[in-house]
Amino acid sequence: MASATDARHAQKEASEQNFDYMFKILIIGNSSVGKTSFLFRYADDAFTPAFVSTVGIDFKVKTIFRQDKRIKLQIWDTAGQERYRTITTAYYRGAMGFILMYDITNEESFNAVQDWSTQIKTYSWDNAQVLLVGNKCDMEDERVVSSERGRQLADHLGFEFFEASAKDNINVKQTFERLVDVICEKMSESLDTADPAVTGAKQGPQLSDQQAPPRQDCAC
Ligand code: GDP
Ligand code: MG
Repeated sequence: MASATDARHAQKEASEQNFDYMFKILIIGNSSVGKTSFLFRYADDAFTPAFVSTVGIDFKVKTIFRQDKRIKLQIWDTAGQERYRTITTAYYRGAMGFILMYDITNEESFNAVQDWSTQIKTYSWDNAQVLLVGNKCDMEDERVVSSERGRQLADHLGFEFFEASAKDNINVKQTFERLVDVICEKMSESLDTADPAVTGAKQGPQLSDQQAPPRQDCAC
């Protein structure tokens, strides 16, 4: 006879398929800042020191619990197109959150943050949330971008900021969890303002519009 523990276990397994929300998250930034490594570290808890080939990966899925909700994350990694700045607009569609990454040992990648931010603002949903991440913080000796400059740029762009290391597993989980929390906060704010477009409470005005009498200003 199956024990209560077995039953609970089976129930838990079945519920792995269920989730309350699904968020599409994108990791963007210059080539070789560590985007693919960051995703592998988070999704698989692994780091491959050799240059990670990005070919063939579209996204990874990870389900987490935040504030009693089961949230399924679909995390997309660019397949190297960032090298040529040819990320298609379709890639941005439906994204609720972005990790915009630079490398603290690479000035050029930091200088590109503004451009990436403009791309996000141009192609994504207005309410999409962005976290700025300075990766490779394990390479202190080769640092060229100070934490202060990173923080100032993040403030200027209105993003939250983390320094992280995919290699040493510093602030990787924290980055994703904070991003998810910020998305959830934004969602509940939108619901609180009771915007009919968000809540679906559109019967009143719309119905009466449809049933309005024919226009009375006909001259014939
Ligand atoms: P992507 O082009 O942005 O996807 O970058 P990759 O993930 O392919 O990483 C580029 C290179 O940086 C590889 O050689 C990685 O091993 C290395 N790398 C990535 N993250 C880190 C990190 O946090 N610290 C260090 N020291 N190296 C990293
Ligand atoms: Mg890559």
